[in-house]
Amino acid sequence: MSIRINQEKCIGCGRCEGVCPGTLICLEKKSDGTKKAKMLYLRDCWGCVSCVKECPRQAIEFFLGADIGGRGSTMTVTNEKDILHWNINKFDGTKTVIDVNRKNANKY
Ligand code: SF4
Ligand code: SF4
Repeated sequence: MSIRINQEKCIGCGRCEGVCPGTLICLEKKSDGTKKAKMLYLRDCWGCVSCVKECPRQAIEFFLGADIGGRGSTMTVTNEKDILHWNINKFDGTKTVIDVNRKNANKY
């Protein structure tokens, strides 16, 4: 599993559904009338993190793989104008934020 959707944080905006290149996420109508994002095919997710970057509520967590020492660490993304904040919640409870300016990313 690459991602986990926090149902409490999800506001049902549908952005994740729209950006997933694999059409792996859909909105599900709940009994109270609200809509929440639901992962349809967990095993098909290849971890592109498009949905993580798009979510305005940091409701989607990406699990960092064992190959980079993840050990249960997760990541969410916060947008602030041209800056992407990659919020890493480490397995030991500590947090790290890596800021990337979109304008300078993929420059080379
Ligand atoms: S990480 Fe990429 S492939 Fe996986 S659910 Fe999100 S958008 Fe789809
Ligand atoms: S982008 Fe985030 S808030 Fe919007 S539907 Fe998806 S998980 Fe919910």
